[in-house]
Amino acid sequence: GAFGKLEVKPGTFHVTEEKIGEGEFSSVHKGYLTTDSGMRIPVAVKSLKSGVGMRYKSDFLDEGQVLNGFDHPQIIALKGVVTRSMPLMIMTEYMENGSLDNFLRNNRNGISVLEMVNILYDVASGMAYLQDKGFIHRDLAARNILIDATRHAKIADFGLGRIVEANDPNATYNALGGKIAIKWTAPEAISAKAFSHGSDVWSFGVLMWEVMSYGEAPYWDMTNDAVIRNITNGQRLPQPYGCPDAIYEIMRDCWKHKQEDRPGFKQLKKMLFDLLQKPELLSTA
Ligand code: ATP
Repeated sequence: GAFGKLEVKPGTFHVTEEKIGEGEFSSVHKGYLTTDSGMRIPVAVKSLKSGVGMRYKSDFLDEGQVLNGFDHPQIIALKGVVTRSMPLMIMTEYMENGSLDNFLRNNRNGISVLEMVNILYDVASGMAYLQDKGFIHRDLAARNILIDATRHAKIADFGLGRIVEANDPNATYNALGGKIAIKWTAPEAISAKAFSHGSDVWSFGVLMWEVMSYGEAPYWDMTNDAVIRNITNGQRLPQPYGCPDAIYEIMRDCWKHKQEDRPGFKQLKKMLFDLLQKPELLSTA
């Protein structure tokens, strides 16, 4: 099969009762996988629900194919797949601290600005790798970043079909019937479906804002239409309380109206690296 050695043999894995995520078409459980070298490693097992149509089956496995093409410490690693029996499964390395948005909300008093910038540096590194590979993510947001036990971040959610849950308040249909998260999406991607590395950079700016706001919802309870009007009029998210000026300036660069005026991910990675070398620039006094 297309997945070769990643096809997991029956009897070499165990899916526990512990449910760590739930979508419209899939659920995620903690599991364990015995590798060829006899190691038993924890994994997150995403299983496609029974009774879903053919289209979702191929979309579901697409995410595994995409992950299989990547090899970078800041991209969630594929550990195994089940494609020859039901339910279909995708197993990825287990990330103890879960999704970044929940991690931020649950640790309001336990995350320093330095740790936040370290997380943003991780995400920029992973995105620079994806940009090198010519891959556009299209759904970069704190909910799609996972945090491991050492508080390092990895990029996740590579479903090509972009199966966004119907009950997701952030989702809206675009003209083609696909769904996009308006509050994270660059104006040209909303209006002309012009997704690019530059539109991923816009989303990265919103992700920076989420991180510096401890997981606050961008644009709070504003409607999607009101957000689009605001952005078109040149308004932008405000500087989060306690966010260093140097970090807010980088966000503003990510939200330049013309995508060619925004920095690339290599540049963002370097800007964040330089700030980490000069922590005095991160003080907010
Ligand atoms: P989709 O967005 O493709 O419809 P989904 O919403 O069911 O799928 P994900 O968004 O990939 O699935 O994961 C759902 C949740 O499961 C995540 O928010 C996270 O809390 C948890 N999760 C997913 N993968 C992992 C992992 N590798 N380690 C730990 N937790 C994970």
